[in-house]
Amino acid sequence: MTRLLFQGDLLGPKAEYSLVIAHLLGVDHVGHSYSPSSPQMAGKLAQMDSLLRRVVREMDNGTLLMVLGDHGMTDSGNHGGSQPSETDTLLFAYYPPGLPTLPDAPAKQIDLVPTLAYLLGLHIPFCNLGKFIPAFYLGPGDPLGQVSRIYDANSQQILQYLQTLGKPEFSSLEEELRNMHRKYQTGQQIREEQETLIRKVQQVLLAQWSQLHYPLMILGLGVLIASFFWVCYLLRNHVSHPGAVAVVLGIRGWSLFSVSALRNEGTISLSL
Ligand SMILES: [Zn+2]
Repeated sequence: MTRLLFQGDLLGPKAEYSLVIAHLLGVDHVGHSYSPSSPQMAGKLAQMDSLLRRVVREMDNGTLLMVLGDHGMTDSGNHGGSQPSETDTLLFAYYPPGLPTLPDAPAKQIDLVPTLAYLLGLHIPFCNLGKFIPAFYLGPGDPLGQVSRIYDANSQQILQYLQTLGKPEFSSLEEELRNMHRKYQTGQQIREEQETLIRKVQQVLLAQWSQLHYPLMILGLGVLIASFFWVCYLLRNHVSHPGAVAVVLGIRGWSLFSVSALRNEGTISLSL
């Protein structure tokens, strides 16, 4: 991908697209192979910098560039765990006319969903639980008032989703979202209240859906251990070469401990 971008007509005729996504996997690959603080990583980042400089040079006014990682990395070049260095990443944004300086805080990766929907002029997807990132309001007029309008659409979409789910445990959240919509329609300045409520709904739902089911986990662990002993039994009765037995047992034992906690990845810091 990088080679194509460097060699070809970088962005091509603009009329042909409204969104370009480039997945530059090399940084992750170099981090795994050599570690994030290696000289090889410095070389890779310098290459990425020159690519971004070229993209910026060829961008015209009204085009937004977003550069972000989907996860971080430990000093030893791993990710998938729950350390902040693995779960947190950076979002860099560049917009030639300049982004409005609106109050904002670290966002969640899922907040990109309503933000990109707004930027592309699309409806917010039905199952979205993200909150629009106010710093990306690019339109004219009163930005804070417009952000409140987008928050209202955002919270109405989440309400519609909750109503479709129809779970009694979410009925008080649904009521709060309905009340917030009524309040918005009266013309009051409630942007911060809307933001707090969307964050609250987001936290409740994310906590609800990332709960671990311990009985099923213990059952799964039991199946894994039983399968290990089943392999031992088969090897003992059907394989006579001790080297082959050791290799198979080694691979099987190692696989029992290969776990990952990818569900924790998701916080981004903003650099605008
Ligand atoms: Zn990776």
